[in-house]
Amino acid sequence: AVEMRGVSKFFGAFQALKAIDLTVETGERIVICGPSGSGKSTLIRTINQLETIQSGTITVDGIELTAGGDNVGKVRREVGMVFQQFNLFPHLTVLQNCMLAPLKTGRANKSSAEATARKYLERVKIPEQADKFPAQLSGGQQQRVAIARALCMEPRIMLFDEPTSALDPEMVKEVLDTMIDLAREGMTMLCVTHEMEFARAVADRVIFMEAGAIIEQGAPEEFFGNPRSERLRNFLGQIA
Ligand code: ATP
Ligand code: MG
Repeated sequence: AVEMRGVSKFFGAFQALKAIDLTVETGERIVICGPSGSGKSTLIRTINQLETIQSGTITVDGIELTAGGDNVGKVRREVGMVFQQFNLFPHLTVLQNCMLAPLKTGRANKSSAEATARKYLERVKIPEQADKFPAQLSGGQQQRVAIARALCMEPRIMLFDEPTSALDPEMVKEVLDTMIDLAREGMTMLCVTHEMEFARAVADRVIFMEAGAIIEQGAPEEFFGNPRSERLRNFLGQIA
């Protein structure tokens, strides 16, 4: 589970997150949406401390990020992240991309890292691409490699930041299907996405952010069917 309590983030004088309270239970699937600049990326990046915070606390599976020591390292080992830009290493093959972190962190030896990599490449349905380089793959395939690579660390929580928004339309579905499979297997997921079909299919809760705050949240049916705030109604009108 992830617990954020009173989390505030400033970039200089600008407050990007305004005392956010958010709990993500183990096994829960949450979708975050909201206008550009509302703080969605900043919020999920605080969870593995890609962004530091100025006040509040963040606890991941009982480990408090802000408590110092090696807690940041411990949390990062539990949390996988997939970005809009796939961030694969271009000079490494698909298989090597997937083996790198487990080897570097000493989590696995070469043969077990390779077995794990092949298992997850199978899971995201591209086992035959293992020996190619990222540039030889389609965008959708590259994003599935990025998902497999994150899974190779056996994370307990997966964070996604607009994983389909850099993809050509015909490749969005294969990535969403991969994410839906992951959700159905019970992975705890926090996803920034405007793919409302995904939200309807698997989200337990949808959150609407604006100007660094959580404005409204609810189960998908209620969130889409009966938005309470004017701002959410306007937003849903724009993305529909
Ligand atoms: P988008 O939908 O465009 O991805 P977002 O909701 O993810 O938007 P963030 O990237 O979290 O928004 O940014 C929130 C606010 O913080 C924005 O106003 C942005 O300009 C600001 N911001 C983000 N990163 C930085 C930074 N490194 N330095 C200064 N300001 C930043
Ligand atoms: Mg963003």
